[in-house]
Amino acid sequence: MHEHRLTTDGRIERFLRDVLGPQRIAERIPLAVTASVVDGEPIPFAEAVARPFAPFAVGSEWGRAWDTVWFRVTGEVPAEWSGADGRHEVELEVDLGYSSRLPGFQAEGIVYDASGRMLKGLEPLNRFVPLPHAGAVDLLIEAAANPNIADDFSFRATPLGHRDTAGDALLYVLRRVDLVRRDVRVTELWHDATALWDLVGQLPDEQPRRRRIVEALARVVDLVDPDDVAADVDRAREVLAVELGRPAHASAHRVHAVGHAHIDSAWLWPTRETVRKFARTLSNVLDLIDRDPDFRFVASSAQQYAWVQQHYPELFERLRTAVDSGRIIPVGGMWVESDATMIGGESMIRQFLLGSRFFREAFGVESDIVWLPDSFGFSAALPQIFLGVGATGFVTQKISWNDTNRMPHHTFSWEGIDGSRILTHFPPVDSYMSDLGAADLAKAERQYAEKAVGSSSIVPFGWGDGGGGPTREMIALGRRKGDLEGSPRVEFSTPAAFFDEARQEIARPPVWSGELYLELHRGVFTSQAETKQGNRRSEALLHEAELWAATAAVRSGAPYPHEELDAAWRIVLLQQFHDILPGTSISWVHEEAEERYAQVRRSLESLIDASVAALAGEGDRALRAISSPCDPAAFAIVESDLGTRSDALGRAVGRADDGGFVLESDTLRVVIDRGGRIVSFVDLTSGRELIVAGEPANRFQLFRDRPAQWDAWDLDENYRRTGREVDDVVSCEIEGEAVVLRLTAGASTIEQRISLSPDGAALDLDVHVDWREDRMILKLALPVGILADRASSETQFGHVHRPTHANTSWDAARFETVAHRWVQVEEPGQGLVVANASAYGWDIQRLDRDGRGVGTLLRASLLRAATFPDPDADRGEHDFALSLRPTRSISDAVAEGYRRSRPPRALRGATPVAPLVRLEGGSAVIETVKLADDRSGDLIVRIYEASGASTTTAVVVDARRGEAQCVDLLERERGDRRDAFAPDEEIVLLLRPFEIVTLRIRLDASAV
Ligand SMILES: [Zn+2]
Repeated sequence: MHEHRLTTDGRIERFLRDVLGPQRIAERIPLAVTASVVDGEPIPFAEAVARPFAPFAVGSEWGRAWDTVWFRVTGEVPAEWSGADGRHEVELEVDLGYSSRLPGFQAEGIVYDASGRMLKGLEPLNRFVPLPHAGAVDLLIEAAANPNIADDFSFRATPLGHRDTAGDALLYVLRRVDLVRRDVRVTELWHDATALWDLVGQLPDEQPRRRRIVEALARVVDLVDPDDVAADVDRAREVLAVELGRPAHASAHRVHAVGHAHIDSAWLWPTRETVRKFARTLSNVLDLIDRDPDFRFVASSAQQYAWVQQHYPELFERLRTAVDSGRIIPVGGMWVESDATMIGGESMIRQFLLGSRFFREAFGVESDIVWLPDSFGFSAALPQIFLGVGATGFVTQKISWNDTNRMPHHTFSWEGIDGSRILTHFPPVDSYMSDLGAADLAKAERQYAEKAVGSSSIVPFGWGDGGGGPTREMIALGRRKGDLEGSPRVEFSTPAAFFDEARQEIARPPVWSGELYLELHRGVFTSQAETKQGNRRSEALLHEAELWAATAAVRSGAPYPHEELDAAWRIVLLQQFHDILPGTSISWVHEEAEERYAQVRRSLESLIDASVAALAGEGDRALRAISSPCDPAAFAIVESDLGTRSDALGRAVGRADDGGFVLESDTLRVVIDRGGRIVSFVDLTSGRELIVAGEPANRFQLFRDRPAQWDAWDLDENYRRTGREVDDVVSCEIEGEAVVLRLTAGASTIEQRISLSPDGAALDLDVHVDWREDRMILKLALPVGILADRASSETQFGHVHRPTHANTSWDAARFETVAHRWVQVEEPGQGLVVANASAYGWDIQRLDRDGRGVGTLLRASLLRAATFPDPDADRGEHDFALSLRPTRSISDAVAEGYRRSRPPRALRGATPVAPLVRLEGGSAVIETVKLADDRSGDLIVRIYEASGASTTTAVVVDARRGEAQCVDLLERERGDRRDAFAPDEEIVLLLRPFEIVTLRIRLDASAV
């Protein structure tokens, strides 16, 4: 049989596009449009509807960037359309003037009825709003002129990311506002035909299945009158029903299709737009829920639900009903889908504590699935934290973005630094916004790594990033693929159903141990330094504020500021969103983040001041409040001159014979040359020189930083090919106790204070940069003579080890890494830590000289200067605080990290104050002291083992206490650990390596 494939395929495609598609709409009538332009920020419906509206001609331009225009559309459903004949639907069709097909990155709208009820969102691929079959039409459209910053991801610098720079041009043309009469049967035929035609694209030519579908479609083209599809629609559907009725292969992969809209809480739009994005998406979803009884939708991020509750009470009530009936499923339990590598351990717990509390109070639900499809890598501390908040499963797909290595598993057990394991799923579709098209489904089946033992995977479907969510076309497609030959089976389902099945099918899942490093987006540890500083500073202030407020509550009966602390946490948790803290949003977002961090700082500083004043009383003694848990005086308020360790250790700074400088204490001797470089660093306790001759440390280096794509996100490996030393010394001289170095670096200037720490055990490097570069990265190089095949980097509640060599492709791909407060390298008995109070990015590699490895090169990434999406990212003034200190053990590194980022707080008062709680013995650390979230007045003390060794410690509480009990990370009783301590019993804890223990301690009310 001869086949004319090209002709046949072209004929079918053209029929779908030019005949069937358009005839889904039987008739259309333009509606009358008036408009009201809102300059500035969005306004609520009630305010908008009361404004004057002026006539507006369809075809006219509207919308300066970020403006809102309210359109009012009026008309009448024609009498001949009236009444439901079952064959037609009446709808509004709006084209806001979309510039591309990508939803969520350009103009969007919300349609309300005249009473203010939100009907549905408008997106490029979702232009219809169902209406009643008769009567007057009076609708309001809140049209948002969100600019297309992504511009098809060309990564071109654009001024559109801030109101002040976006200009006055009108961006969109209102192309169409019609009342339409949809032919239901022709629409169904179109769904039938497109589902089959889409499948054909995935079927091998030699399979009978492909040829039979093509033949059936060709017959439909033959039998349908192209000028009147409706006349032949039933016969055409019968032809296709035969092919749609053929069941899937017995071993076909099964897809748990989960309705979803990954909505970034801020990104190429400010948070205020996300408020509307989630509302638009929810109104779309609620419309779909009414149409399909099995469709279910999952959404994470308590913050986004909270926005709906605040701004759209009517929509929130409908949402609550849908949650009650199990159709909308809050997942993740987190406040936002946060970054998962840089945020502190306590922050990660609070993401869950505040998120879960919201879900519980608003909906009475709890999620046991962690849902982070898009965060840029995952720390190895997370399995323990996830289990500790009650999660049993974890979903992400982001690691599929790796540029070098492919993860070997899709359903596996992920093991963290403490040995905790959590069942984890990477949807093999490699997407969080599938359209349920045949290509996606075939990909999921083809790629699924556990197919020998497992049979199913999750496919999240629905437009994401900028929102929009699932469409009725996706639902129609999914419906037709429930049991269809040539396709995986599709079932509208939930993550929980998937995990239940996976647990049954895969008794012994493969294990992946350690971090899930994303081999892409390596610049996110450095981009937008001020946002990152804001996070670190806020985390430290929150720790301090809770510590002193709890101490003041117990010691002096001061009220504990639950509301203020919650408010501060909510702000900080939102900025930890996976496009804010990573520094990958528009300038508007980062400017707002910095303002919010300043607000948090003011609020927390005043809480801390009030607490320490309540504790120390009125007086004029110079005191210091010690919030570092590793200080011998941890959590006490002490006399200033007693302080931490003694300051009187003979610290001295002086000139060297060759014009350089010597800084010396009882434990450290550092020699600095005239260029500010460290040429000798001797640990006087061991006598060991830690600098390699000819390889001085403390060298600023500039590299060209022009990634191939994703500018603010990516640091490409080839940056290393263009480095140069910053050696343009303006001056280097002694000022007080410090050597002060001034340099120019391109158009930028650097000032660095080099001094010994108060205890003389560390060299403090305080750096001020006036940064004027474009697309460059500034690093501080610290080569040291410690030959270590791995480096330790602090992460949440512990640290990870990473090789310093690049033996395997996995090691080589990890050329830029993240650390929290410190990185450390060591030979047995002699190590060196570099602590860092605000930055996160590092590269650590073998130091070689004369053809051999002689040590380790540690480089701190200080500043980048990306031009997309914020064209001026990071230009301006910045401060960094680093330090170098010799170590004997990892505990020294932990202590140095805390010292540098939680300095003592000076105050005046009447009396020193003993610590409320302290540890005796062992390598554990108290991370958090606070009062319980349930406002019972119980004291919460969070302790973790910090060095990777089993340890025993005694918890000493300096207050009359009742029972103490180990609880989970959400402060609830936990089943797996029975530890409870009677009021008079010593609290002795045995901790596994890196174990986190949360103690809930009842306080004796009579003592308070
Ligand atoms: Zn995202």
